[in-house]
Amino acid sequence: MLNRHPHASVTALLLLTATALSGCGSGVPVAEAGLEISAPAEQRLIALTDLDQRVARVGYRLSAANAELCPAVRNSAGWLLHAASQYSPELRPWAETRFGLEGDLPGLLAVPEGSAADLAGLRRGDLLVSVNGAALARGVDRRAAVFEGVEINIRALDLALADGPIEVVYRRDGNDRTARITPQRACGYDVQLDPSDELNARADGKRLFITTAMAGFTATDDELALILGHELAHHVLGHRGWHEAETRGRQTQTVPALTETSGGAERQADRVGLYLAARAGFESSIGPAFWRRFGAFNWRVRYPQWGHPSAEARARALEQVQAEITARRASGEPLVP
Ligand SMILES: [Zn+2]
Repeated sequence: MLNRHPHASVTALLLLTATALSGCGSGVPVAEAGLEISAPAEQRLIALTDLDQRVARVGYRLSAANAELCPAVRNSAGWLLHAASQYSPELRPWAETRFGLEGDLPGLLAVPEGSAADLAGLRRGDLLVSVNGAALARGVDRRAAVFEGVEINIRALDLALADGPIEVVYRRDGNDRTARITPQRACGYDVQLDPSDELNARADGKRLFITTAMAGFTATDDELALILGHELAHHVLGHRGWHEAETRGRQTQTVPALTETSGGAERQADRVGLYLAARAGFESSIGPAFWRRFGAFNWRVRYPQWGHPSAEARARALEQVQAEITARRASGEPLVP
């Protein structure tokens, strides 16, 4: 279920889940209810779409602002894409109407402000139909929800972006228009939102993952940047393996040496992560208060475990890092951790 394309939205995945569960649920099976989506379900989907957009927005800012510190980089348009074929057949017409989707063609679900796609005039709801004169495949209508078709299209876009500016034809309000996108250098890791009740985030060397519960717990983009910044820091610090064979237009680069600090990998990731958030223009001073609030809410992080210091210890350490950041800013020193 979680083996979706990294660019795929959680909304699509949730629609699949809703259909799969309808057989044993007490409500009306979705397949028999036609397109009548109950208000709570639709509200939940809208909330998840919002979460997808928040994660895309914060992930984009962190990736673009910290490109020089990331061991893997790529040319990015900054968009979050999805396609009708990812949705279950029962809900596909609903997704097509709501999001303007068609077959395997990639539609823009999120266009972060300041991203290459945004600067090229693209908006949420636009549908991509060709890149550099080559048509993207619409695919055939399938019974099941699949990611393969849209994945091929996304790979074609990523590889074109890797070579520099691209020209795309996109559909808006039924009219085809052309845009030239000049990609921006960004960290080469996808940010993925996983539907889960677990309060968790992780990094595997290629991607950053955050659960819907964890993203939902963060009250602001600054708090979300604190969590995603910590995971990105594991990549910046080389804590995770990275496999070049699985690249999609990514390159490796040599990164500046960072200050050696004491403490384990998690404490280092907290320190570097706060810098990454500050460098991306997020308010990093919220770090200590966030960890105290999170510790009060979740007993699992209240005590040290699995190499992580307790929430209170992390809050105190972040107070020192924040003092460091404030001092560097005051003296005009670069914010390199
Ligand atoms: Zn960590």
